Parts: sequence; C-alpha cells; structure tokens
Amino acid sequence: MPLSAIQTCFSGNPLDRADYLRTDPEIFGDWMKRDDARVVLLAGESLQPDGQIRVGLSTESRILTDAVGDIAWQRPSKTRFLPVSTTIFLGLDDGAPRYAAMLDGSADDFSDMFEADGCKFRDGRGMAFKLGGPHPSLGIIAQAKSMLLWHESHRFCAKCGSESKLAKAGYERKCEACDTHHFPRTDPVVIMLVRRGDKALVGRGNGWPEGHYSALAGFLEPGESMEEAVAREVFEEVGLKVSNVVYKATQPWPWPSTLMIGVEAWVDEGDLTIDPKEIEDAIWINKDDVRASMREEHQYRLVPPPFAIANNLIMGWVEE
Ligand SMILES: [Zn+2]
Repeated sequence: MPLSAIQTCFSGNPLDRADYLRTDPEIFGDWMKRDDARVVLLAGESLQPDGQIRVGLSTESRILTDAVGDIAWQRPSKTRFLPVSTTIFLGLDDGAPRYAAMLDGSADDFSDMFEADGCKFRDGRGMAFKLGGPHPSLGIIAQAKSMLLWHESHRFCAKCGSESKLAKAGYERKCEACDTHHFPRTDPVVIMLVRRGDKALVGRGNGWPEGHYSALAGFLEPGESMEEAVAREVFEEVGLKVSNVVYKATQPWPWPSTLMIGVEAWVDEGDLTIDPKEIEDAIWINKDDVRASMREEHQYRLVPPPFAIANNLIMGWVEE
C-alpha cells in the first residue's frame, strides 16, 4: 500500500537501503563481484547552450538509460576500465546489490560506448518524460544523483580544508586531518498552492518562459517550522497573510538535493501586493481556468509539467 495518497515523481524508491551493509568492508569487494550486482552510471552535463562543456560542480548530470528511458543497469565488471570519480552503494533490490557511479567526464565523452546497446544518457527530467510519471526508477535516480553530486561538490573538509574521504559506502565523508564527519545534505523547499474560497493563486518567477505560472515556493530557513516558512514566503512574495497550512505531499527533487514540501496555504482576506524582486506576477485562478489551459484555450500555461509536485497540487485541487 502506498505511504501517501499523492504519488510524486522521484519518490517511491523500491530499494532496501540496507544501512547495516554500509560498514561491510566487502561492500565494494565481494558484494560487487556477485553475478546479480548492477551499477547505474551517471556523467556530468554535456554541451551547454554557450558551447562550453560543464562537468563536476554542476547541479545537473545525465543518467545512462535504455531505449524506453529506464535505467540501463550495467554489470560492475563492464565498467571496470572506465574512469570513475565516485562509486556509492545504493541498496538491495530483492537481495541483489545496486550501486551508482559518477563517470569522470561529460556524458558526450561516453555516449558512443553504449550507443550499440540502444542506451543513451538522459537528464532526470528527460527520464521522467519518457517514463510518463511516477516510476520506481525515478526514486532510485533521486537517491543516486543527489548523493553523487554531493560527493562531487564536497571533496574538502568544511572545517579545516583538507581533502576528505568517502566513508560508509558513500553516506559519509570523513576528514582524517581533523577527525570530522560530514553527512549528505537535503535542502527543504516549501511549495504552496495558496487558496481562498473557490480560487487558487499561481505566480511566475522572473525569467520564466512567457505565460507560464505555477505554485509559489521558497527555501525553508534555519530555525523555521514548515508552516512558518510557508507564511513568510507567501507574505514576502504577494503580501497575503496565511491563516492555515495543510500538508499534502513531499517530493525528492535531485537538483541537486532538495526536498519539496507540498502544501495548501489558506488565506481569508487581503489584496495582492507583488514584490517584483521576488516574483514577476501572481494571479487568482479558478478551476475552469486550469481546464481551459489544459485544452490550450487559455492565454496562460497554468499546469506545470507532470513530474513536478506543483502539478500534483494544482491538479489535486481541480479534481477534488
Ligand atoms: Zn577537516
């Protein structure tokens, strides 16, 4: 039975994370040599619009996928001679070990090697589009991508600056110089459908594609409850006072390691006062506006892509 009534993309990871195996000295030894061991390969971002190859410290990376867009699992032995910057243990799939490895280079460098098998490097959104909605593999990708990008950007100890080492099969980095342990981070973001009566509020950020609107959102700050972050963000962006916050669902969002906390934020009164430094525009809409937008008969695009939790929030409201 699902743990949540709302199934978001990038949740639903089916692996047993098997924490107890992370300290097993054979996790990168005998476990990896098993016949049923598999590894998912990621590589840095490919060619950028400005013509520059960007690798390493980017929030984007590509995943080796098969012809239908699912993970193209490889035998660890097949990847032994590839340059790999980081390998982590993901967990067990029905007892079989699963790993993720970041290739040392951009996806373009390795594409030819896998082309004959019909495999292709895709970004996470491309995978979500191809798989058509929530899918167990997207949960695995959220784990693999966030973890590998954390290692790529946390090579050095934040306390003393020495190079740290991967520990606990990837779930820790240890600085031997000052004996500090570093753990992977998750950054919470609140995303809220503001509601009043039969209307909902959608906004658009500066620089968004023309006519696109979505739910308001913002990072939760240290020392804030989820509800306080929602109220603060709504007040900052549109000047409305939230009277009630209702939790709906969460979504792991691996760009690079965010947890989207989806809620409805109810307001009773007040006029919109948009802060142009925060957002470009915000409008009240009704359910017919969303239905018209789905038929492409509305001047604005009010339905975010199906892999975004904003889609779950807006469509959940329309269908309630
Ligand atoms: Zn240190």
